[in-house]
Amino acid sequence: MARCALCKGIFESGIGKCRLKNSDAEICRECAALLERKDMIETGVAGLYLEETKREVTDWMGGLQFRVTAMQKSMGRGFGGARVPRIDFRFTGPLGEEWYGRVQGDMQLARCKRLVKG
Ligand SMILES: [Zn+2]
Repeated sequence: MARCALCKGIFESGIGKCRLKNSDAEICRECAALLERKDMIETGVAGLYLEETKREVTDWMGGLQFRVTAMQKSMGRGFGGARVPRIDFRFTGPLGEEWYGRVQGDMQLARCKRLVKG
């Protein structure tokens, strides 16, 4: 068990700890999700995880969930010109705006960015 540095709530520590950026302070999954959401709104970029089979995009603790609206698989070029699988997708972000994300190779992390309207 651990105490969240932000909401002071007690939570189950262990598998996959969340920490505040540049700090050792542990935070709970809910606070991690809130921070990530805030960060997405402020910066317009995010590193998220694509749950391909569920057609969902989540943060690494699963506290955030966004619905994938479109997904396309293709073969891209990796380092040295190697053929690597690639998935391009779109999803609805925290404020209902459209985001674009891409997963390449065997990486789990999807690089995502907010699409500019207009
Ligand atoms: Zn918390």
